[in-house]
Amino acid sequence: MKYVVITGASSGIGYDAARYLIEHGFHVFGSVRKPADGARVQAELGEQFTPLLFDVTDGAAIETAVTQVKEKIGSSGLAGLVNNAGIAVAGPLMHLPLDDLRQQFEVNLFGLLDVTQKFLPLLGAVPNPGHAPGRIVNISSVSGRVAYPFMGPYAASKHALEALSDALRRELLLFGVDVVVIEPGSVRTPIWDKAQELDVALYSHTPYKSILEGMKRVFVNRGQTGIPVEKVSQAIYTALTAAKPKTRYVLARKLLTGWLLPRYLPDRRFDKIVAKRLGISQ
Ligand code: NDP
Repeated sequence: MKYVVITGASSGIGYDAARYLIEHGFHVFGSVRKPADGARVQAELGEQFTPLLFDVTDGAAIETAVTQVKEKIGSSGLAGLVNNAGIAVAGPLMHLPLDDLRQQFEVNLFGLLDVTQKFLPLLGAVPNPGHAPGRIVNISSVSGRVAYPFMGPYAASKHALEALSDALRRELLLFGVDVVVIEPGSVRTPIWDKAQELDVALYSHTPYKSILEGMKRVFVNRGQTGIPVEKVSQAIYTALTAAKPKTRYVLARKLLTGWLLPRYLPDRRFDKIVAKRLGISQ
């Protein structure tokens, strides 16, 4: 039996990855924040799913989960840790409350590293672990390499995750624990519905008001037209099982407009395209 921990298994990518990995022979420990979500997912996915109850910003609760996993897997070790839990904070940087930016980093970066540090011994990052080294799969985003306006907090956290993943991968060569990054474009998950919660009223006194209302409509549309979540699950499975995984898997719905142009056009050319699309002009 191969054991894997996935954070944020209550919905979206985390939930589907749990379903997919169980279908492919794994036992999944999935983190949720509400006991009711744990019970629901276990009822849906069966006994190869074990819920863990923690918020990634709660170090003590993560410790408890590590102990729980250790008791269950004994000396087998973890084959993988999928750092998936995340939130998307949006808003114009000029007016953004700094606490919103801090919260974005608390979850997407500091929480992620805390979870990683605490599970690393079970992944084999110790001398003579007695089992094959596991792998860490970090769910980044196209926003880890491209920063769209009003997605600054989210893009900053994912850019930071990209750097952290590169450094960690090189550090963990000492133990053979690999680090792989998945970079999806838009994926059809509830994260986009949560964009509905972007409180445009917060910025109603600013010149960005109407642009943000337009952005909100773009978000909702992105949620409906993103790639199916199973494509991400397949990439996570490949990252965990391929003999020689790539360091990064890009999953853009439209390779040209969703990846190649934003990455390789000169910055100012791309600025103009984005500004025209969102109506940002003087
Ligand atoms: P969802 O909103 O559907 O799922 C997010 C998951 O993270 C939920 O299980 C949520 O739990 C959990 N979570 C949020 N905050 C915390 C926290 N503080 N501690 C523990 N768990 C938490 O979104 P997605 O499935 O779309 O997103 C998953 C990952 O994929 C994120 O890292 C996101 O950035 C990334 N991604 C998503 C894309 C997309 O288009 N959907 C594109 C690129 C990357 P709860 O239900 O309790 O809130």
